[in-house]
Amino acid sequence: MGEEAPAEQIPLCPKWCVSHHDDESDEHQSLGRELAAHARPLNQANDAYETSLVFTIHRNLTDTTAWIYIGDGCRQGLDISVESAVGAIDILEAVLREAQ
Ligand SMILES: [Zn+2]
Repeated sequence: MGEEAPAEQIPLCPKWCVSHHDDESDEHQSLGRELAAHARPLNQANDAYETSLVFTIHRNLTDTTAWIYIGDGCRQGLDISVESAVGAIDILEAVLREAQ
């Protein structure tokens, strides 16, 4: 009686979330870490370009799966689960050993 309905609450943020959740965002999101990179589109050897790859964690507010985004925001991008990213580190190290 007389009590207001509770406002829609945002689930507790994971420790990596820096979102203020005061806009229309429906995701928790971490700070982006950037890597200056020399890249090229798939199968276009003559179209290499300089770009900045961003690495960030994001998760839908109502989901339990966190995703790692690696991309430049337009031409290149990969969105993989945290577990997949962990597995990718070992594979990448092995591939880099072969490349050297
Ligand atoms: Zn959050």
